[in-house]
Amino acid sequence: MAEVIDVQKMCRACLVDTGPFTSLFSPTTRETLLFSQIFKYCTSVEVSDSDQLPKQMCTACADLLKTLYSFKKMVLKSNVILKQHIDSQGEKKETKR
Ligand SMILES: [Zn+2]
Repeated sequence: MAEVIDVQKMCRACLVDTGPFTSLFSPTTRETLLFSQIFKYCTSVEVSDSDQLPKQMCTACADLLKTLYSFKKMVLKSNVILKQHIDSQGEKKETKR
């Protein structure tokens, strides 16, 4: 007998069916972005409020996503700084000639 799975009552990220859940369409605490926006930004997975897929995440995944979002922003920011540094080093070498 097939187990009945209610996808509306699952975590979108890890599929756990026990809450508490955080809605993907609620704003994140310190950002003006919705969880669905940072979910897509970090995972490249499309989240829509008009599909039949889960629209919430468990607390553990919501926390992980917030951490991942901070990590990704940090890496991108550092990457810009590093590239600027390399560029300025290159310019110094060129002016010597
Ligand atoms: Zn989860």
